[in-house]
Amino acid sequence: MKYGLVAHRLHRLGADCSLLRWARHCEADLNTLALDLHATGGAHDALLINDLLRSRLISVGHGRDGGLMRLVSRAAGGLTPDAAIDGVFFFVDPVNPTSMYPEAQALKRQCVIHGKPFVATLAGAIEWVGVEMACAGMVASSVPEGKKLPAPESQVLALIAHDALKSDMLAFAVEHFDMLSRFAGRVATGTTGSQLNAMAWSRGWPASRPWVTCYQSGPLGGDAQIAELVLDRRCQKVIFFEDPHVARQHEADIQLLERAVYSAGDVTTCFNTPAMTRRWAQAVGN
Ligand code: PGA
Repeated sequence: MKYGLVAHRLHRLGADCSLLRWARHCEADLNTLALDLHATGGAHDALLINDLLRSRLISVGHGRDGGLMRLVSRAAGGLTPDAAIDGVFFFVDPVNPTSMYPEAQALKRQCVIHGKPFVATLAGAIEWVGVEMACAGMVASSVPEGKKLPAPESQVLALIAHDALKSDMLAFAVEHFDMLSRFAGRVATGTTGSQLNAMAWSRGWPASRPWVTCYQSGPLGGDAQIAELVLDRRCQKVIFFEDPHVARQHEADIQLLERAVYSAGDVTTCFNTPAMTRRWAQAVGN
């Protein structure tokens, strides 16, 4: 397995930075998984200096030399079949201006288009190694407090789907209804949420209470309302089935929500595609 690895300065400087915390937590599991890391300059150098993950690292060059651009190509499949990467860990600092560079946006977009995990926070990166371990039939040593993924009961979950993916979201929620019902709470943007509630009531969920708490519809600010919950650390997991193929009138709100997740990245994670979300659900079910 091969993942791209990028870390903004905030997350790779200092003994307690996210990149080093993740590497210390996950080194043993990444070795067990034989998961190689195609790392851009700064992340590569920080790990080498700290003698972490040395045997897993492959340098793709510094950002100014096109390292990030190469990862975009490889997320899309690369120039030869063996050059493709399977996903990306990108420790994003939302107030670092490079987070808005075209190559940074394109890297996430290509991951979404190709259904590859784009993991952008410390909590998400630790959890995702646990997901890969569980999917490989192994127990993660990296997940805090023992051997399992964060319990649904300990988190509030947000569910959002763009129009072309709403039927996928409903199918996913039907398939994993019992597991999703175990979360401490569920929130959603307006239209997604009302469809999910109708589904839950049709399955016998008590009519007196909604299965998800609905905020405004996306174009009317629902993403921004969920972002505030994330910033308050009252929502720790965002499942967002994004449609990368259409122009979205409320693009700013969508990016705002993602940037809120990055701001609360010590406790929050975001899954952007049905493929990534199903892989997580498979791992939780194991
Ligand atoms: P909706 O919003 O659930 O109200 O359609 C989703 C979004 O576009 O963010």
